[in-house]
Amino acid sequence: MKGETVSGGMNCLSRLVAYLACRWSALGRAVVTIAAVGLFAPLILASGAEYVVHISVDGLNVNIMQSLVDAEQAPNFKRFEDEGAWTINARTDYTHTVTLPNHTTMITGRPTLAPAGLPQVAFHNWMENKAVQNRVTLHKDGYIPSVFDVAHDAGRSTAMFASKDKFNVFDQSYDETNGAANPHGRDKIDRYFMQNDGPPRYSQSVVDRFVEEMGVRHFNYVFLHLRDADSVGHALQWGSSTYRQAVHGIDGYLGQIFQLVESDAQLKGKTVIILTADHGGRPPGHDDPIYRENYTVPVFAWGAGVDHGDLYAMNEKSRKDPGDARVDYAAAGQPIRNGDTGNLALWLLGLEAIPTSSINAAQDLRVAFPSNPKGLEAESGANRKHAGGIQEAN
Ligand SMILES: [Zn+2]
Repeated sequence: MKGETVSGGMNCLSRLVAYLACRWSALGRAVVTIAAVGLFAPLILASGAEYVVHISVDGLNVNIMQSLVDAEQAPNFKRFEDEGAWTINARTDYTHTVTLPNHTTMITGRPTLAPAGLPQVAFHNWMENKAVQNRVTLHKDGYIPSVFDVAHDAGRSTAMFASKDKFNVFDQSYDETNGAANPHGRDKIDRYFMQNDGPPRYSQSVVDRFVEEMGVRHFNYVFLHLRDADSVGHALQWGSSTYRQAVHGIDGYLGQIFQLVESDAQLKGKTVIILTADHGGRPPGHDDPIYRENYTVPVFAWGAGVDHGDLYAMNEKSRKDPGDARVDYAAAGQPIRNGDTGNLALWLLGLEAIPTSSINAAQDLRVAFPSNPKGLEAESGANRKHAGGIQEAN
């Protein structure tokens, strides 16, 4: 940009004709800018959000979280339930309840594996669950666009703050070498920060760093990963008193984040916090996707333009509360899934869905009741398709 401005200025000064051309060009730019504002204003009004903080609480067992909420030991989780759009009966990916596959689903909107009965649906096929070597990426079978691509290619700033070193696969997949070419650059994640602490700090340093940097740089889209519950669950079991303490500790992180979003003049009133989990957990672990405690996760949203209430009630035309069932992608009534949240974040920012995604590809997951004027505005502000849950590519 700087280079263009300098050379343009030189031409303007060199000759009268060039000067006039530059004036016309400037006028043209002004017209384009006005037209663009006119075009995009409804989208901005529709979402109301300029910033989305997308949180994943690794290994969060929702029943244990809810018992802490009910015991008034998790006031910030409770705040999502008292003020936000929420469910504690969302679902993970159908075939996997493992950290990297499920986070890949969240940021790409793709299932891990080809869903039975849906041959046209792209899947991400990432089943590894450890830090990768240099140069290894998600794109082993072809480029997989992510939430970071859409946000960054639209000129929004992006960040990922992670608390396990295995997240390096995301940093590497969307870096200046491996990200897709675009005028806004190949590196889709403007800021990647990872600190892989064990006890007693776990994600505390990551959260402190996130709060500090977000207050300065105001990233439009941030993914924030919190490891504490999963790490304690593996070491000392889901449901142990130490596990409950870990969830209580995460509640404290959420308090820091609410504090930031409400005290920072730039973020206040323009931010949505989305919270979900990659998977739950039960003794002895979480890898088996057949168990309810493993495949059940929360989806919470709070902030600008978000109503208070049950997410299934807000989405009764497009989603179905699965009860206790493990629901595959071909089922007629799709549950709300953690995989919906990437495309939800983009919709909140007034951006289109992730190319090649299928989960919430129609961006029809709502965080307001249809009767709410804000919800209606959101509905009409963007040109949305209306098909629930998963969508086959045309
Ligand atoms: Zn784990």
